[in-house]
Amino acid sequence: MYKLKILKTNYVTHDVKRFILEKPEDKDFEYTPGQAAHLSVNKPGWEDQKRPFTFTSLQSWPEVEFTIKIYEKHEGVTNEIGKLKPGDEILLHDIFDTIKYRGPGIFLAGGTGVNPFVAIFRALKASNNLRNVALIYSNKTQDDIIYGRELHELLGNAFLNVFTRQGVIGFKERHIDRDFLIQNIGEFNLNFYVCGPKKFTTDLTEDLISLGANPNSISF
Ligand SMILES: Cc1cc2nc3c(=O)[nH]c(=O)nc-3n(C[C@H](O)[C@H](O)[C@H](O)COP(=O)(O)OP(=O)(O)OC[C@H]3O[C@@H](n4cnc5c(N)ncnc54)[C@H](O)[C@@H]3O)c2cc1C
Repeated sequence: MYKLKILKTNYVTHDVKRFILEKPEDKDFEYTPGQAAHLSVNKPGWEDQKRPFTFTSLQSWPEVEFTIKIYEKHEGVTNEIGKLKPGDEILLHDIFDTIKYRGPGIFLAGGTGVNPFVAIFRALKASNNLRNVALIYSNKTQDDIIYGRELHELLGNAFLNVFTRQGVIGFKERHIDRDFLIQNIGEFNLNFYVCGPKKFTTDLTEDLISLGANPNSISF
């Protein structure tokens, strides 16, 4: 277990906060893009309340970054994390795999499900390998997009936003569903990466398979 001191926090949307943490000096502290960790708050009564979060930083960075949606109403761990200030500590219990990059393809994200993809795109950019990837990103409204400007800079026209609630001129207002996939993708013999709320992931995985995607080429 590592104790990571918070160096900086800021809001990246109205309810998502970015936490910059001190990186442990331990050379065994290693992680790869797409990996996640169980975190808890180092405050009395909260130390053992672990929740999973994905690294949005890269191993090569001098600091560690997590990007966390704060659910005040749950009165759970993210609400406590949201109250933390520079100097407070987060406990990092273990690191585990979520999504691994297996080559160019189409990334489908809902909400904070974009986080592993952010890490993957940052790593591909850093190694000059960011090509032939596209991101379709679903949020309730434009105000919920995480790292929108950076994703646009990284991906250009290969970054498509979808809004489920708010009509925004120039953007598509709808859910990513089977019809959407047919209209916007067309070719399904590709790698697919899907990450978001459980229903988003299971529905889209089923849709992709029914449209001809190889189940072995879908990471979720
Ligand atoms: C592999 C993985 C990686 C993840 N990475 C990230 C990430 O990088 N960033 C990120 O923001 N999230 C990420 N998540 C999601 C994140 O783990 C959850 O948002 C977090 O665990 C919520 O914790 P919580 O304690 O605040 O709330 P919860 O654990 O949901 O609940 C705390 C309490 O609130 C109650 N509750 C639950 N739902 C509601 C509700 N709708 N209304 C009122 N009360 C409710 C529960 O019963 C419980 O008592 C990831 C999840 C997984 C599985």
